[in-house]
Amino acid sequence: NLKGKTAVVTGSTSGIGLAYARAFASAGANIVLNGFGAPADIEKERAAIESDYKVKAVHSPADMSKPAEIAGMIALGETTFGSVDILVNNAGIQFVSPVEDFPPEKWEQIIAINLSSAFYGIRAAVPGMKKRGWGRIINTASAHSLVASPFKSAYVSAKHGIAGLTKTVALELATFKVTCNCISPGYVWTPLVEKQIPDTMKARNMTKEQVINDVLLDAQPTKQFVTVEQVAALALFLCGDDAAQITGTNLSIDGGWTAE
Ligand code: NAD
Repeated sequence: NLKGKTAVVTGSTSGIGLAYARAFASAGANIVLNGFGAPADIEKERAAIESDYKVKAVHSPADMSKPAEIAGMIALGETTFGSVDILVNNAGIQFVSPVEDFPPEKWEQIIAINLSSAFYGIRAAVPGMKKRGWGRIINTASAHSLVASPFKSAYVSAKHGIAGLTKTVALELATFKVTCNCISPGYVWTPLVEKQIPDTMKARNMTKEQVINDVLLDAQPTKQFVTVEQVAALALFLCGDDAAQITGTNLSIDGGWTAE
């Protein structure tokens, strides 16, 4: 039961982030949505969370590549709802290219959004969590925090980085009843996966069907995509009392990918 608690979920206008936000709201938490999109679409999702779950939801347009805006997003949660009790660092982008052609600005952008944004969010949210003596920090890492794939140098580097940040923060907060874990999905069917198919087709000289079956699902022994609802259910479990002793872990939800 998360009644009276507030969850900030970065990158929650789409995909996994939106599923996290809806799962926390279903347990009674107020929500700070974040992410890009058409204003009318974002407003529709925000209003649906409020009416479906009888909680309050606001949207922060903070750009996760801008540290000052990230601090502003945490401040928005604290001033609107009185606290930020749950922080999910989830915003992320992908870019697929051989390393020697990888555009430096794409490298910088992925490191900023997929890794540094979590650092800035955590440093802004931790003082309040420590003071109140309760908190949950969840980072969306990836199977790519544990293993690599070719042509994803920036993404794999950022995700390995966030796994290390998770462990460090967990140790620092261990005696404050604040846990910090990461969730590492395999391939989840979301716009992020759909959008990388054309570049992978080019990089590997494959058809769309070949990319889906021979690259994406080839990595997953179950031969099925993970669903956003399955990832969100794991995050919700991490917010409960039964998960109070789970901290510093990297939880795989990848159809067996990283067992190979
Ligand atoms: P998605 O593209 O559906 O959603 C990404 C979200 O991040 C969107 O809300 C988008 O607006 C937001 N976003 C992007 N750049 C931003 C920025 N600069 N500032 C603020 N928000 C920004 O992607 P998804 O698949 O739901 O991915 C969510 C997370 O899960 C990412 O960290 C991704 O790396 C990770 N992940 C995804 C998969 C998968 O297969 N889909 C697998 C493992 C990990």
